[in-house]
Amino acid sequence: MAKKKKKRKFYLDSQTEKTVLTIVAVSFILIITLVFNRIVSNKILEQAHKQTKLDCENIVSGYSEAIKFCLMDYFTIIDSYSHIDSLETGDVNIIHKQLQELHPRIPSKINSIAYVTFDYKAYISNGLIREIETKEIVDAHKKDFSLYNISDPEYQKGTGDTVFYISKMIYDKDSKPTGIIAQVISVSTLADFVSNVKIGTKGYAFLMDSKGRFITHPDSSYILKSFEPTDERYQYISSTFLSHEKIGYFHTQNTRNEDIELTITPVPGTNWIVGLSIPTSQIQELPNIINKSSRILFLIILVSILFFISAEIYITNLFFKHQRVTTPIDPLTKLWTREKFEREAKRIMKFHPNSKFMLIESDIRGFKFINQNYGELVADKIIIQFSRVLNKQIQNVNGIMGRGFADHFYSFVKISSVQQAMKVFQKNVDEVNAKIKNLDVPFIPKFGISFVLPDGKNKNVTIQALIGQASFAKSTIKDNMLKQYSIYNSRLLNKTNKEQYIENNMEQALENEEFFVMYQPKVDLATDKIVGAEALVRWNSPKFGLMAPSDFIPLFERNGFITKLDFYVYNKVFNFIQRQIDAGKDVVPISVNMSRNHSKPEKFMHDFMTIFNKYSFPPSLIQVEIIERSFMDNNTLKEITDLLHKEGFTVAMDDFGSGESSLNMITRIPVDVLKFDRTFLLSFTNSEGVSNKESESVLELLINLSKTLNKETVFEGVETKEQRDFLKSIDCDQAQGFFYSRPLSEPDFVRYLGRK
Ligand code: C2E
Ligand code: MG
Ligand code: MG
Repeated sequence: MAKKKKKRKFYLDSQTEKTVLTIVAVSFILIITLVFNRIVSNKILEQAHKQTKLDCENIVSGYSEAIKFCLMDYFTIIDSYSHIDSLETGDVNIIHKQLQELHPRIPSKINSIAYVTFDYKAYISNGLIREIETKEIVDAHKKDFSLYNISDPEYQKGTGDTVFYISKMIYDKDSKPTGIIAQVISVSTLADFVSNVKIGTKGYAFLMDSKGRFITHPDSSYILKSFEPTDERYQYISSTFLSHEKIGYFHTQNTRNEDIELTITPVPGTNWIVGLSIPTSQIQELPNIINKSSRILFLIILVSILFFISAEIYITNLFFKHQRVTTPIDPLTKLWTREKFEREAKRIMKFHPNSKFMLIESDIRGFKFINQNYGELVADKIIIQFSRVLNKQIQNVNGIMGRGFADHFYSFVKISSVQQAMKVFQKNVDEVNAKIKNLDVPFIPKFGISFVLPDGKNKNVTIQALIGQASFAKSTIKDNMLKQYSIYNSRLLNKTNKEQYIENNMEQALENEEFFVMYQPKVDLATDKIVGAEALVRWNSPKFGLMAPSDFIPLFERNGFITKLDFYVYNKVFNFIQRQIDAGKDVVPISVNMSRNHSKPEKFMHDFMTIFNKYSFPPSLIQVEIIERSFMDNNTLKEITDLLHKEGFTVAMDDFGSGESSLNMITRIPVDVLKFDRTFLLSFTNSEGVSNKESESVLELLINLSKTLNKETVFEGVETKEQRDFLKSIDCDQAQGFFYSRPLSEPDFVRYLGRK
């Protein structure tokens, strides 16, 4: 069996299978999404980088064009000056004079105009004549006789300005070059133009001359300075390198050692380049944005998947729920489901409003135990076998049947009378029991029954309430192994309500002294003298009034409270005897009852003696009535008897003859007294009080046997003179019963004692 169970573990039920599949599917979708997302993101990034590069290139070439146009403006201006008359003369004085005359009218973006001879002497429109420092201005023309030239900028010591020159070759009448005419332009005019360019927050454009020096830069302190990144990796991308390279897109560092993306392009007609510097961090914002958006995308996909899964589960559940309602057959037993059963029963009741019906709820005692110990397969088999037997029986009487949860079955049948129905039911139960006995795993069924009687209270009962009643009836037999079925009636409900009340109030009742003791005299048959009494407990409940032990002792035996009550009674009895003795009154030995629940002899004895030792009368005044228990408990009873004997108490076997093993016990348990059960007396006299000779002989034999075994004999339940006389005739020792006295309250008993 254990092996089988182990094997079963390897199978997944459909729910688990579904969950595993869902997890695999979700993980798969997520991985695919992740991979796909990464590929797409990379593509987008790549594309975006390409685009950025392209955009940067477009921007710089735009600037380069713009600067070209700006410079062309200066060419137009220099062209107009190159036409002045004096230039052809080659006479520096005349030329200088004429330039000075023009000076006030030259455009504001030009500082001055100068005529420079090939021997580097400059005749400036502002009146100055000086040797020029930047000889390249002239040399550039001399080298290839080019018409126009744009110089690199230089710092002018005199004015503190940084300027560059745009110059044009001058020829005399004979077309012989005589010198150049040059415009002196402040680089700040270009700076204004280029610095307006701002890309993002930190991107900027700049101009650089042929030596790699900045012509314009947002930070004017860099003008005329070149740069070289400090980071070794980028050091080679210095400004000198760029001014030679002239065109390209580079990742390098700027003057502040920040990583930048640099795009450069040449300015046409010059040896300059225009550059665009954008911080790499600014470009990297793009992947961040893409990452952020892909995270959002990922989340959206995840949420959508979860949404679809829960929707799927919800719809499936809805579907199954619907299916449960619409599928009326239980797959295991092929019987109707409970829902279908209820619907059908309801329909039958509706069509037969004045008929009687019987509803039976059946289940298997200890089914959970069977399930756990034999395994599900065996349990299922038992359910099927049980259902078949029940179904066959119910079909014989044209009833219907359904299966509820686990081993619970419901049968419903129209009946002609309760008596007749119960007769059939009893027969069926016997049949079920007989069939079950022969099964591999025998089991005991139990049944709860409820009736619909048109003239009774249950007339308009619903099928659900009817099932509830049968269920309740069945629950009342839970612990009772001898009872196999129970019929619901309102008294049953009242009884359980009463039991509930008793359980809730018993402890308080003990404290409130609601329990009290009555004493029933025991009389010596030979002398008719009182020789003892039995202490019998009563409960005077404020709710239920005076109650006999049969109302509460069975319940106390079930919940264990009886042991507490026993000791309470012992204390009351001992106290009574002590008071009698102390008052100098008569006393007789008193018998006290000991319940079946005391299962630990040592403990019982200890508690018993603790109470007894509080008093000072001899143990011979106390007799303990023990009661037969199951066969297994005989040892316990023997031990208790021995212990009581040791302390000097006598022991009586109560209700002797009512159980099956009584005769057996006479020899096994060394009791002093046999207290014959009153049922003996009932069996040997018939209803008219005429005695039955056979029973008489049996009783006589028993009394004689007891005497041979040295046991005292007491009869209880002696009600009539005939009974008393008969017992006397067979030499029974003592009698207790209504013939002499009913159980008496303490004061009445004291009076009774005084009377003797
Ligand atoms: P029991 O020990 O066999 O007590 C005798 C019962 O027979 C008493 O019932 C008594 O009232 C009743 N009886 C006496 N003479 C007659 C008679 O002539 N005719 C009829 N019909 N009955 C008679 P009671 O007091 O109702 O007690 C019932 C049982 O409850 C007792 O049977 C005993 O087993 C148990 N019981 C009573 N008091 C205590 C107690 O303090 N502790 C324990 N553990 N059980 C107790
Ligand atoms: Mg008794
Ligand atoms: Mg008795």
